[in-house]
Amino acid sequence: MLKLSGEALQGGMGFGVEPKVLQAVAREVKTAVQQGVEVAIVVGGGNYFRGATAHEGLDRATADYVGMLATCMNALMLQSALEQEGVATRVQTAIEMREIAEPYIRRRAIRHLERGRVVIFGAGTGNPFFTTDTAAALRAAEIGGDAFLKATKVDGVFDCDPVKNPNAKLHKELGYRDVTTSGLQVMDETAITLCKENDIPVVVFNLYTPGNIMRALLGDPNVGTTIS
Ligand code: UDP
Repeated sequence: MLKLSGEALQGGMGFGVEPKVLQAVAREVKTAVQQGVEVAIVVGGGNYFRGATAHEGLDRATADYVGMLATCMNALMLQSALEQEGVATRVQTAIEMREIAEPYIRRRAIRHLERGRVVIFGAGTGNPFFTTDTAAALRAAEIGGDAFLKATKVDGVFDCDPVKNPNAKLHKELGYRDVTTSGLQVMDETAITLCKENDIPVVVFNLYTPGNIMRALLGDPNVGTTIS
């Protein structure tokens, strides 16, 4: 299960999706698929809209639904980028929009994966008050995923913020508990708890290092931080 934040897709643009980033992601996913890895992807929507930091006059649930719709735009664009690389891809959404994507059906998703198709899950969990990290953890548990690969802007989990502190130290390995008790900002607690309860290791890695997505998908232990 590869989790891409919406922000990751915007590259240097500050909003929306940068075609170059999308193409680079698609190429790396393709390499992993060609080597026989079954790839599912959950994509965020923060490059368009985030419910939690929403706007005056919008109630939270409505804002979250808008956020979920934003993830679907990313899912469709990622599908198109993958298809241009020749990778068979299905989008399944947690909110039905049958004209443009399949509804989420667990057994069908598993079948697609078995047939070598990449499955992109859109619209998060379909419920407000959740995040796409939680959606990725949930789907990973449902489809029997081997790992939760979280692509970020930094190399992994550090002992302090590497953007603010150049001496920050990268952890190679952590326990789930280290993450929940130390206040390290890795992912929200619901997501990490789901991974812990279902024994799904989490790998946090830098999306912008060329080749990293492919290496993470192929299970390279030298990529990022592993939480297990
Ligand atoms: N969201 C939601 N339920 C979910 C997943 C997402 O309500 O199960 C909404 C929420 O408003 C969130 C937005 O969709 O802010 C976009 O997702 P997220 O912020 O997780 O995207 P990312 O930060 O990964 O780009």
